[in-house]
Amino acid sequence: MKQCPVPCLFVAQHQQDMASIRKHLLEGHQCRDAWLALSKLVHDPRQRKDCLERASILAPDDEELLIAYLEARLAIDPADRFAQQRLNEIRTMRLLSDVKTPYFHEQPKPRLIGDILVSIGAITEAELQEVLAEQRRGSLLVSDRRIGQLLLRRGLITPSKLAKALIIQQQERSRARTAPQVLGEYLVEHGYITAAQLEAVLTEQIRLDQQGKRYSLGQLLVRMNMLSKDEVERAAKEYEKAFWTQFNA
Ligand SMILES: [Zn+2]
Repeated sequence: MKQCPVPCLFVAQHQQDMASIRKHLLEGHQCRDAWLALSKLVHDPRQRKDCLERASILAPDDEELLIAYLEARLAIDPADRFAQQRLNEIRTMRLLSDVKTPYFHEQPKPRLIGDILVSIGAITEAELQEVLAEQRRGSLLVSDRRIGQLLLRRGLITPSKLAKALIIQQQERSRARTAPQVLGEYLVEHGYITAAQLEAVLTEQIRLDQQGKRYSLGQLLVRMNMLSKDEVERAAKEYEKAFWTQFNA
């Protein structure tokens, strides 16, 4: 399988030509742009959703694409709770990244995932620098999440190591208040699950994500029999409430 660069020059030249784009994909190209172009050419909303889903899996850090995919899901099923929730999360995070700068300005900066992985001995500083350098060649913006994914893809870390580092990062973030406490952390702090369970769920989430399967934390907690669906819903509601009260002070 061949991963196409973004932008893909072939697709750029054949944007409107469905047959060429289909052929490009059938040849085995892992091409975000081809799926995106196809999503604009198909008329059936389900096909559109499928195209956007595939594009989004190939570019997991592309938030605009994720939003387009989630909106396409809602266009098919307006009651799609997963899509609604994810869209809400994204909107909230965007709201916060606008708001947080002036308020949280003087707090210590939580560490990046790469630095945490080095500090727990999961990778060496040299390995981190190598991956960072590779990232900088590919794009101007090095996203923190992408580093974790790259390290996974290269087999330098295991999903469980990444989960551990993510938990540490979440703890540092909630301590530094640069970001809201995340749901997983909330669940541990309020005794819904143990830290070990959170780590297991995150590990599973990362493992499945690598296979292109996306599950929310709540869905996995139910699937792995750690919480019932009712408990997840109750906890999510409480978390939401607690999350917003911190802005009322
Ligand atoms: Zn391509």
